Amino acid sequence: MGSCANDGSTEYDDPASLEKMKEPVLPLKLMPLHTNGWLHDMKLSSPSAVFASNGTSSGAFDPIYRAWTKKYPSALNAFDHIVAYGKGKKIVLFLDYDGTLSPIVDEPDNAVMSDQMREVVRNAALHLPTAIISGRSRDKVFDFVKLTELYYAGSHGMDIMGPVGEHDSVTDRGSSINSNKKQGKEVKIFQAATEFLPMIDEVFRLLIEKTKAIEGVKVENNKFCVSVHYRNVEEKDWKVVAQCTNDVLKVYPRLRLTHGRKVLEVRPVIDWNKGKAVEFLLDSLELANCNNVLPIYIGDDRTDEDAFKVLRDDKRGFGILVSSVPKDSHALYSLIDPSEVMDFLKRLVMWIEGEALHKSQ
Ligand SMILES: [Mg+2]
Repeated sequence: MGSCANDGSTEYDDPASLEKMKEPVLPLKLMPLHTNGWLHDMKLSSPSAVFASNGTSSGAFDPIYRAWTKKYPSALNAFDHIVAYGKGKKIVLFLDYDGTLSPIVDEPDNAVMSDQMREVVRNAALHLPTAIISGRSRDKVFDFVKLTELYYAGSHGMDIMGPVGEHDSVTDRGSSINSNKKQGKEVKIFQAATEFLPMIDEVFRLLIEKTKAIEGVKVENNKFCVSVHYRNVEEKDWKVVAQCTNDVLKVYPRLRLTHGRKVLEVRPVIDWNKGKAVEFLLDSLELANCNNVLPIYIGDDRTDEDAFKVLRDDKRGFGILVSSVPKDSHALYSLIDPSEVMDFLKRLVMWIEGEALHKSQ
């Protein structure tokens, strides 16, 4: 039993009862195949649009945000409750990158994580298996994070550098796996959609060409997906961004569009997402189907919802949504921003160290 200090009134027992308190959440939907639908989604995914009425983008002291945290309690306030479930279990950490470990910035190439955050993540990885799962290409995320202690899944989990385990059950899924040495350790590379690579390259070039006249747009090749960033595009031009992307995509039925934070993402139509990547990594770590494992996933994107859902549906672990504005989610808890993520990770490591000390005495 724990209590939520942020409002002094929220009480909850366990994940099951907490879930009962929740109203049904909106499913993660694909964008409608018409430009107006895309535009609507672009506006909805923009925090500035959500909070335009009161002019603030951070809801820490906002009554609406505080009401929202009754549904998605702060993971810091609920920390004791979370680790109570981790007691005696192996905790596995999954982290999104942009907006979770690094602040959202205007120029995607400048989304560097602070040295302090890097140290906190490194320390976490020394104490528990830690993976970063991002929409960016795996190499790009590694360039930002620069830690060899982690597992990396780029392109929304379609490009995974994982550990070499005894069981390669993933080969059953018919995807390519290679064992090799990379970034300092023995790893297994799993790529779910290699046959899409030429198509993705082609679409990347077409999108650059199509959108070159739109000021502020940035098209990024993330190997197994293409991101069209519109965070620097004036809102009046968002419709043009959606239209250009639509025009390119309509002749590629094997590609689909999803939505991140001020980014449109073109992805292969395959049954693979961040949730599948979590399952794959747990498999690889030989920590799947274990009652003594507690996975925790922290992320801020709509694409992270697939992972939240996997953990929630299986009652396997906790999803923590990073958001300074209220939104529906499959996560169970929330944190406001990357600085709170850092605080949470520090406390988690301290708790693990305390547990280890306690055990050794
Ligand atoms: Mg993110």
